[in-house]
Amino acid sequence: MFHATVFTLYPAMFPGPLGQSLSGDGLARGLWALETVDIRDHGHGRHRAVDDTPAGGGPGMVLRADVLAASIDAGVRSEDTRPKLLMSPRGKPLTQARARELSAGPGVVVVCGRFEGVDERVIEARGLQEISVGDYVLSGGEIAAMVLLDACVRLIPGIMGRIESGGDESFENGLLEYPQYTRPRDFEGRAIPDILLGGDHARIARWRRERSESLTRERRPDLQPSISKTDPKPAR
Ligand code: SAH
Repeated sequence: MFHATVFTLYPAMFPGPLGQSLSGDGLARGLWALETVDIRDHGHGRHRAVDDTPAGGGPGMVLRADVLAASIDAGVRSEDTRPKLLMSPRGKPLTQARARELSAGPGVVVVCGRFEGVDERVIEARGLQEISVGDYVLSGGEIAAMVLLDACVRLIPGIMGRIESGGDESFENGLLEYPQYTRPRDFEGRAIPDILLGGDHARIARWRRERSESLTRERRPDLQPSISKTDPKPAR
């Protein structure tokens, strides 16, 4: 079973949104497990201090290496084979492929940073792999960890109603998803494209593929190198 252990200074944030909908049903049904560890339990002194000022000066505070290492050592057994991830804007960007790869494994250990970040030495000493959810800065790793876990958990067999419902989506084939429609047939004078109502599945598949390709070309030319802005439109 996919087992997530999250190291955080804010354990009360969990399961949060992960306790609802697909991931929440999965938790309740025992399809995955979520455990949080309060880093502050290993804080120093009467105030359980976990941070200190940056060496070399500068603003903010840095999560101490000794505190985080003690917390990880107490919370994860040495024979644990799960990847140890640190949510970090400096990390490798999270992709659908990475989420799929992680979801097929035994789970993840996720460390949530706070303040200005964590002391570099604990990243090295505990082999933490930095992973980013995008090119912007959040105030802490918790919401980023929820993004990562949500992306992984929905891919666990049994979580989504139909196994196929994952296969057609944005990024799965290097493309953004085609537009979706449902009832009513007419919405404020806007109709559902006729092809989708015609029942010709081959034509529908072709239409969807073309829409996927043109959307990807317009919005995310970086996604598929084989589609460049100068390529001619696929023949209709
Ligand atoms: N000073 C750091 C940012 C610290 S933000 C820097 O400039 O790189 C505080 C914490 O929020 C980080 O330690 C990290 O755990 C989390 N975080 C912020 N942005 C993130 C992102 N884009 N992806 C993943 N985690 C992020």
